Amino acid sequence: MNAEFHFELAVCQWAERHWPPDGDRERPVVVARQLGTKYRRWDTVVLVCDPDGLAARARFGTQGLDSDLLHVVRNAPAEWAWYRDALPDPGYPWRYVREAVHRAADRGVVETRTNGNRIELRRKWTYPDWVDRVVAIENKPDLTASAARSLAPQLERDVALSLADEVWVATRDTGEAVTPALFEGIPVEAGILTVDPERRGASAVEATWQPRTLAVDDPGTRIEERPSGGDHDASAARFTYLDPSEKANKRLEIAERAYERGWRAYVDSMRPDCRYFEVHPTPAVARPYCSAKGCHQTQGECAGSCPEFEPEPPSWRQQEWPLDGGPGSVLKRLLAEQRARRRPEPE
Ligand code: SF4
Repeated sequence: MNAEFHFELAVCQWAERHWPPDGDRERPVVVARQLGTKYRRWDTVVLVCDPDGLAARARFGTQGLDSDLLHVVRNAPAEWAWYRDALPDPGYPWRYVREAVHRAADRGVVETRTNGNRIELRRKWTYPDWVDRVVAIENKPDLTASAARSLAPQLERDVALSLADEVWVATRDTGEAVTPALFEGIPVEAGILTVDPERRGASAVEATWQPRTLAVDDPGTRIEERPSGGDHDASAARFTYLDPSEKANKRLEIAERAYERGWRAYVDSMRPDCRYFEVHPTPAVARPYCSAKGCHQTQGECAGSCPEFEPEPPSWRQQEWPLDGGPGSVLKRLLAEQRARRRPEPE
């Protein structure tokens, strides 16, 4: 687990700097980790963005827009109109829409006014088409035969649903001529990245197998249950369809969350205010390090329940560190600033 977390950080940092593998970057990317849907969480998500669209998205703020807010901002009219006339029927009670209109106004992403007892709205800006491609990466540093066997059905589900344009597996470079992952029943539609997490630069990751572009604009199939296929298993598979517009909405919701969180948000759930919390810059990526345990700790270990937690001494907050926080707060701010720099400034 520990190895997976740090491998994942290395993959995220590499993707932020060097995506796409084996090619020149033509479009900006936004990288996030641990995102997906209710049914499936991807380790790393890379959004390949339209540069103008990404700049226009910045006007809507750094916080992500959830599905209710997206419904409002994407359909808000150019001229004042009653919200029930302006917005398409959402398929759920209008009072929730009214609440979302108020939230959107509070966030400053639409304008509202009252006309008699009616709430009217109009848009401030057109919500842009800013996401070109959604790339999902599953990180498996040690892709043993049994890890590959349990990963294969998940990837088959990803391919059948086709919510992401590309699905990849990232695995540690074993130094062998052909990575063993190729032989382990991974669907041929999924690409394979071999990663040397200790190496710096674009060449730290190599595409050993190119993925197939998935049909994101076609209906997707969600495989809910599949028989084991043995001699005594005559049960039927269960699946549902997702139509293209639902898929487009889900992709955008994932993109919005990725835009807000980036991949450095891990520090929010750790204890950088602990005196033993350090960040060690290894060649590939700056990784959290615990000087009490003498290892790169995971998010699970570095939590409120850690028996070795010790707060930063108050004196650390008064000497070379700014008065409004010790090294832990400075580190948090640094990571937040790095995250913010990956997003363009609004025009
Ligand atoms: S001692 Fe515990 S809380 Fe402190 S840095 Fe190490 S893992 Fe985190």
